[in-house]
Amino acid sequence: MKLLLIGVFSVFIFGRANAQQPVDYTALIKATQSQQGVAGELKLAWWIPVEFWEQALLQQGVTGFEIQSFLDVLEPYVFVGMIDGAIGDYGTVSYMDEKIMSATLRVTGTSGEQRTPLDPEEIPEELDYMLSLLKPMLQGMMGEMGANFHFYVFSDEMTDGTRFCDPFATGSVKIETSRSNHSIRTPLGPLLPPKVCPEDEEEFMGDYNFCPYCGHALEDK
Ligand SMILES: [Zn+2]
Repeated sequence: MKLLLIGVFSVFIFGRANAQQPVDYTALIKATQSQQGVAGELKLAWWIPVEFWEQALLQQGVTGFEIQSFLDVLEPYVFVGMIDGAIGDYGTVSYMDEKIMSATLRVTGTSGEQRTPLDPEEIPEELDYMLSLLKPMLQGMMGEMGANFHFYVFSDEMTDGTRFCDPFATGSVKIETSRSNHSIRTPLGPLLPPKVCPEDEEEFMGDYNFCPYCGHALEDK
């Protein structure tokens, strides 16, 4: 009887783990970042929805109950990372003062509402602790710019129960400061199931509606 119960229980656990489907991680990173390619500038904004954390944790080998305990804490929030530098005449980079960045940062979500980052005292202790584990991972991904990668927390909850920045909504997430202006298109293609062209059977990311080669309307795979 005991064995049978364990069997049922592990089916339940694996059932949950399977709900955490891996997607194309590199494509997801690309789809959530906006880089401004003007010469002499080093500007990057990274919108980090809870769906990104899920994929990042899967990449780290975290699964099942453990991943869910992270996601439960992260879910009510949306995160934004920013780098804003200007390359000087001698190749040295001067970065925007963090105080100016945090004071002027505004995010307009897919909901259409504009929000400012939460104050440190509005961030619950368990989230703060979790971010102390996750932030170094993100800074590491930024390479030598990592030290100038600043990170902000916003509430992802709207009063009507919808999300402030919904990666599945059609629209955009706009991230602005006094000297940068980023826009990230939604829905995030890598999170959607792929689509296929009925004509040439080529597969495309889920945010495509028409085949870029023959113009046919794409169908669900
Ligand atoms: Zn086609």
